[in-house]
Amino acid sequence: MKKKVCPRCGSRNVEWIIPQVWSRWVCYNCDYTGPIIEVDDEMENKIVKNWKENKEEILYKESLRKNKDNEEDENEELSDEEIDEKLKKLGI
Ligand SMILES: [Zn+2]
Repeated sequence: MKKKVCPRCGSRNVEWIIPQVWSRWVCYNCDYTGPIIEVDDEMENKIVKNWKENKEEILYKESLRKNKDNEEDENEELSDEEIDEKLKKLGI
């Protein structure tokens, strides 16, 4: 069965904060906001492992991207393409 998890850290501690905006979730584990993903156990474990091993690198890259995009878009949502890219890197 698929579970809804944070695409960044794999936590299930996520909540849908704005009912009008389907893509706006918040992760209480890593403070991620944006769309979440549905995964099975195997995928969840991979994301959690990747997050634990590369946490600083992931946050660093996100901060770089955030600074770059700051003027046109101040939120940190992942596009579908970026989520696909992330999943690809995890070997899916
Ligand atoms: Zn998270």
